[in-house]
Amino acid sequence: MEEPRIGVYICWCGTNIAKMVDVEYVAEEMKKLQNVVVSRNYKYMCSDPGQDLIIKDIKENNLNRIVVSACSPRIHELTFRKALENAGLNSYLFQMANIREHVSWVHTDRKEATEKAKSLVIAAIKRVGFHESLDKRSVDINPATLIIGGGIAGITAALEIAETGKQIYLIEKNNYLGGNLAFVDLSYPDMSSVHQILDPKIEKVNKHPNIKVFLNTEIDEVFGYVGNFETKINGTAEIEENLKFGNVIVATGLKPFDPSVITEYAYGKFPDVITSIEFEKMLKEGAIKTKYGKAPKNVGIIHCVGSRNNNYNEYCSRTCCASGLKYANQLRDALPDAGIYELYGDMRAFGKGCEELYTETSKKDIVFMMFDQRNDLPKIKTAGAKDNYNMIIKVNEKLSGEKLNIPVDMVILLVGAQAQDNAKDIAHAVGISMCGNSFYIERHPKLDPVATTTDGVYIVGSCQGPKGIIDSVCQARAAVSRILGSIAQGSVQVEVTTAVVNEDICCGCQTCICVCPYTAISFDAEKNVSVVNEVLCKGCGTCGSACPTGAIRCRHFTDLQILSQIEGLMSLELEEV
Ligand code: SF4
Ligand code: SF4
Ligand code: SF4
Repeated sequence: MEEPRIGVYICWCGTNIAKMVDVEYVAEEMKKLQNVVVSRNYKYMCSDPGQDLIIKDIKENNLNRIVVSACSPRIHELTFRKALENAGLNSYLFQMANIREHVSWVHTDRKEATEKAKSLVIAAIKRVGFHESLDKRSVDINPATLIIGGGIAGITAALEIAETGKQIYLIEKNNYLGGNLAFVDLSYPDMSSVHQILDPKIEKVNKHPNIKVFLNTEIDEVFGYVGNFETKINGTAEIEENLKFGNVIVATGLKPFDPSVITEYAYGKFPDVITSIEFEKMLKEGAIKTKYGKAPKNVGIIHCVGSRNNNYNEYCSRTCCASGLKYANQLRDALPDAGIYELYGDMRAFGKGCEELYTETSKKDIVFMMFDQRNDLPKIKTAGAKDNYNMIIKVNEKLSGEKLNIPVDMVILLVGAQAQDNAKDIAHAVGISMCGNSFYIERHPKLDPVATTTDGVYIVGSCQGPKGIIDSVCQARAAVSRILGSIAQGSVQVEVTTAVVNEDICCGCQTCICVCPYTAISFDAEKNVSVVNEVLCKGCGTCGSACPTGAIRCRHFTDLQILSQIEGLMSLELEEV
C-alpha cells in the first residue's frame, strides 16, 4: 500500500463547534501525527471555499487521504466525497469525524470537549490510512414506477410520470381514488371546491394509457433493488400479476385520529359531537343539521383534537387551524344568525393566505377562545332539560382567565392525524424505516426529504408526517423529478461498501443468510458457500459480525480499519500515536 499522505481539516461551523472546541489547537496538534502532511482549521468546510481548500491541497501537496472533522457524515459526507472526486482522488479515501453532534452540541466543558474532539480526529486519521479505493458500480433502470397510495400525492406523481410516456402501477387499498381529500368539500384558504381539483385528475388517471390502477389492493413484499424491483400484487382477480419496476413511491397518506379516547369531548356519547370528517360529509350533502334534523343555533369548533398533547400525539396536525377557520366561514355563510365559537390551544394559521383567512374570519362575528391544550382541555357536558340546546362546553378561557359555559347544540372536533394502521407492513414490504409515531423516515430531513435510505424508494405526502395539499403535491413532484432524472440516465449508481465472501474460508454454515436484514445473501449449494448480491447488500455489517470463520467482510469496514480507529480513539497522548 502506498504511504498515506493525509490532509486534516477541522471545521468551526461558525460558532457551532468553535464555541466549545478549540479548533485551532486541535488542528495544530494533528500536525504532530505521522503521515499528516497538512492540518488546517476553517470556518465553514462545506462552503465552496472550504471544499476548494481541500481540492487545492490535494493537488499541491499530493495528498492521498483526507479527514474532515465537522458535523455528522449524514449531512456532508457526500459533499466532501464529491470534493475528493473533483480533485481526482477516489472518494473512499476519506473519513469524517463528527465533532459537532458528538462533541460541541453535547458537552459543556470546553477543555474536555476539545480533548474528545482530538481523540475522534486521531481515530479518523488512524483509520483513513487503511482505506482502499473502491470503484463505483451502476445498474440499469426499469422505467416503470410503482406508486403505493392513490391520494392527491400518489395521483399527482402518477400523472406527472405517465405524461412522459413511462408506465405507472398505482396501488390503492380502498375501492376509490382520492384518499382523505375525497371526503372534503372546500379547500382553504381560497375556499375553492376540492372536487374541481380532484375529480378531473382522477378521471385522467383512470383513462391514462400509461397508468394501471389496482383498487382494493395491498402490497405484501417488494423484491429486488433500485432499478429492478418486482412484486406480486394481492387484491382482486388481477392480483395474480407480477409487476416489474425501477422505482417506488410510497404515498399512503394518514388516518384521522379517533377522538373517542378523549373523555372530555364525549365523542360517541353525544351524537351532536362530530368529527371534521363527519362535518365535511354534511357540507357536501348541503345540510348542516343536528341529530334532531334542525339547523344548530350554536356551534363549537375545537382545535388540536389528539394533537400537541403528550397523552395523545405530541406533534401538530398542520391542517386543523386552517380547517377550523374554513368551517367558521362555511357555518357563517349557511347560518348567518348562529353563534360560532372557535376553541383553540394556539392559532397556527401558517401557509400562504392562511393568516389573512384568520383576519377575515375574525371580522365575521366568530368568538375565538383559547384554552390550555396540554393540561386543561375543555369539557363537553349535557345541558339541563329546560335548556333549548343540547350541550355545554366548559372551558377555562386562557386570555381572560374566566371559567366559561358555552351553550351549543353541535360540536365539531378538528381531529388530528396519525400514521396508517398498515404503516409497518408497508415499511417492511419496501424496506424503509419509521419514526416513533410510525411516519416514514426520509434520507435527510432537510437536504433529501423525499428519498429514503433504500435507493429507489421515495416517500411523499402525509405518510412522512402530516401535510396539507400544497406540501403533498410539492413532495410528489420532487420525487417525480428524482425518478425521471435517474430514468433519463438509464442507470443508477449503487452502494459499493458491500459485503464480500472469501470462498476459501467459508464453511457453508449459512449463519449470514439468517441474519442479513436485506435478504442479500443466497447459498451456492454446489460450491457450499454463501454468495452476496452486491446490489441488494446495504453494507450494514451484520453478517460480518455473525460469521464464525471471518469469511465475510464488509468493504470499507474491514477489521483493520475498525481496529485502527479504536486504537486511535484510545491514544489520548499524541506521543503514543
Ligand atoms: Fe457546519 Fe458541517 Fe458545514 Fe462544517 S461542514 S460548516 S460542521 S454544516
Ligand atoms: Fe446483508 Fe448487511 Fe451483510 Fe450486506 S452487510 S450482506 S446487507 S448483513
Ligand atoms: Fe460462510 Fe461465514 Fe456465511 Fe457461514 S456465516 S456461510 S462461514 S460467510
